[in-house]
Amino acid sequence: MADATNKEEKSLNFLEEIIEEHLNNGTYKSIVTRFPPEPNGYLHIGHASSICLNFGLTQKYPGYTNLRFDDTNPVTEETEYVESIKDDVRWLGFEWKYERYASDYFDTLYEYALKLIDKGLAYVDDSTSEEMAAMKGTPTEPGKDSPYRNRSVEENRDLFVRMKNGEFQDGARTLRAKIDMAHINMLMRDPILYRIKHAHHHRTGDIWCIYPMYDFAHGQSDSIEEVTHSICTMEFVPHRELYDWLIEKLEIYPSHQYEFARRNINYTVTSKRKLLQLVNENYVTGWDDPRMPTISGLRRRGYTPESIREFCDRIGVAKRDNMVDVGLLEFCVREHLNKIALRRMVVFDPIKVVITNYNGSGEVLQSENNPEDANAGLREIPFSREIYIERDDFMENPPKKYFRLAPGQMVRLKSAYIIKCEQVIKAADGSIVEIHCTYMPESKSGSDTSGINVKGTLHWVSAASALEVEVREYDRLFRVEYPTDEEGDFKDYINPGSLKVVKGYAEPALAAAKPEDRFQFLRKGYYCLDKDATDEKLIFNRTVTLKDGWAKEVKKG
Ligand code: ATP
Ligand code: MG
Repeated sequence: MADATNKEEKSLNFLEEIIEEHLNNGTYKSIVTRFPPEPNGYLHIGHASSICLNFGLTQKYPGYTNLRFDDTNPVTEETEYVESIKDDVRWLGFEWKYERYASDYFDTLYEYALKLIDKGLAYVDDSTSEEMAAMKGTPTEPGKDSPYRNRSVEENRDLFVRMKNGEFQDGARTLRAKIDMAHINMLMRDPILYRIKHAHHHRTGDIWCIYPMYDFAHGQSDSIEEVTHSICTMEFVPHRELYDWLIEKLEIYPSHQYEFARRNINYTVTSKRKLLQLVNENYVTGWDDPRMPTISGLRRRGYTPESIREFCDRIGVAKRDNMVDVGLLEFCVREHLNKIALRRMVVFDPIKVVITNYNGSGEVLQSENNPEDANAGLREIPFSREIYIERDDFMENPPKKYFRLAPGQMVRLKSAYIIKCEQVIKAADGSIVEIHCTYMPESKSGSDTSGINVKGTLHWVSAASALEVEVREYDRLFRVEYPTDEEGDFKDYINPGSLKVVKGYAEPALAAAKPEDRFQFLRKGYYCLDKDATDEKLIFNRTVTLKDGWAKEVKKG
């Protein structure tokens, strides 16, 4: 997270400006915001922006934020999603004041509908959806009044009550607001308020067979909760007029809607509908597959809440839609993990090194858990005569300025000794079997009196105590920057190489890894234990690679 002084210096975003104005001029003493997900999927990185914004505002200013499930569509909503959303918001580090459901308000919304009918501002329409579409007009042409538009209040009341009582089939009738079929805003052309849907609802069961539309639930729920600043994304700008109209006609608490731009990131999709397809059609292993841009996927991948909050903070709040580079998200997690991750050594593609003049046994070296964190302490690393290094840390005929191991050349083994390559042992076919080195006993890290300066430092593991682990290396889920359906199917752009499973040889300290522990495998990247791991088999997810990791470690020595 950016520190507090940093935050102070930052200029206010446009919502903060509005809120400060409202607090300064006494419009409000404190504010209420809400995060209103529809429980029809898992939250993704776009939602994180909205969460950080809504909860962030009431951390900064007096007031509170509700978590409100916008559960007005019984067909697509499930309790599993409700639970995952709560987990994700908490994991991101936020706590809501009240947990609410639009379905809590079904009785009130029904009363509101009757009130509009009684005021002559709503009517029951028997037109089919095709007929209604035909009468809607276009942005440049007015629509036509429905033949049912002038029903009496009594008839409308009677029909609406019977709609509620289940007397009619799905789609047979709707309740519409009576506004203006020639309105320049198409959404004001007698919008539908209620539709008939004989469907089981995850919370209200079979009590209702009519359900309010988004526009007749959202603003009303805001009003019931006395939300002062109802923040949504730009596509709702045209809805604001209807939002205000309904609140005015119902004479209820005047919540106000404010819009900000959606945040999307490249090389992925941020639409629950598309993410659901990836899950259902087995392109990924589930909503929390570490390649998914969901909060739960990022979490399993090893992202920290701090890094996601920092990302949302850096991209900020704007009025214009924009695509954010996934590189920024990776930058944020790298930056945080550099501060907190425990350093460990894992060799991925081993080649054996025999230290021919080393006769010690059971020597245990110490190495810092995290040079960035003085409190992180030390860990023990067994050293022995036979070790593994990475195959590509050795070259038989190296170019100039090659500072890794090569015949006659010296390198430092991280937190251990300086070794010198004396001999390369090959098989009959010319392949390298092992490398014979000697070590300088006086060059031990921390008490080095050898006076030798070497440029290269290699990670290594003791062959006898290395643990064989599985490492899942992830790449972008899509091979194009903007996977869309415009020319076919967005799934055609899936990156077939988005998961590579490799073996690694890990230092024994990793046996104690627990889920959500974060590690930097030296010179490789950041990793965390996957939930599929067992006592017998350690499985690590690569969160993100190190940027130019080799050059960095070389400097440290
Ligand atoms: P999706 O298209 O992925 O289903 P949605 O907007 O339908 O998204 P909701 O559950 O309705 O999903 O969203 C809850 C809140 O999160 C809304 O206020 C919505 O505006 C906001 N939100 C959703 N996606 C983004 C995004 N990409 N960037 C910023 N805010 C978002
Ligand atoms: Mg939605």
